[in-house]
Amino acid sequence: MIGDLRKLTAKIAERFKGRYYGRTFRCPVCHLELALVDANGNRLLVCPLCGVVLDVEEVYGHAVPVVLEVEALRPQPKLRIHPLATHVPIGLYPFAVMGAFVLLLFSILAPVLPGPAPLIDRAPLLADATLILLGLSVGFSVLTFVSGLRDWYRRYRRRPYAQIRLKIALSVIFLALGGLAIALHASGAAFSATTGLVDLGSPVAVVLAVVEVLALGLGMVVIATLGHVGGTLVFGR
Ligand SMILES: [Zn+2]
Repeated sequence: MIGDLRKLTAKIAERFKGRYYGRTFRCPVCHLELALVDANGNRLLVCPLCGVVLDVEEVYGHAVPVVLEVEALRPQPKLRIHPLATHVPIGLYPFAVMGAFVLLLFSILAPVLPGPAPLIDRAPLLADATLILLGLSVGFSVLTFVSGLRDWYRRYRRRPYAQIRLKIALSVIFLALGGLAIALHASGAAFSATTGLVDLGSPVAVVLAVVEVLALGLGMVVIATLGHVGGTLVFGR
């Protein structure tokens, strides 16, 4: 079952990578997967990971990278804010997602459970904790985004890497999904401010709660992909 799931996600990821990156090849030095479209008009490309300058020749339809030289003056910031800051959202966000899922589960269970349910009575506390975790994780992701952009300007000299473009696009999507989830949660329109639960009698509240949980779940996929792509820029493959 888990093996099948892994095969399925690997297949989806491969298809997405093929669509997004187009033709790729490996850096002959650090083995990072590079996109052919990133080479400039002279077919030159600087590897974002190891900094070698590659001349990418096409031989019988295959991309053959030849190492020309090494980028000598590469800014090496002492304080790496981006990789530090990224751990706050990626560490807190999954708990916010779990909080919303548990609240939805409590809302479904509450009417069918007989007698007093001490755990479900604490739902308002869980709803508040979820909002705080959401605010912190999405708030810190703004710092992560800005520091990442700064690194792209300085360390990577604004070169048009497909990986970095993907990270910028996914960051914007994550901020939008996170902002939507915060707005829904804070308004109390999905999860009631007094009970912390969804009012199952109100179709609007049910729809908004489902939208919030879906936005959070999708945000989880986006933030995990962001972390994975960022990881390749640090460790190669
Ligand atoms: Zn390399």
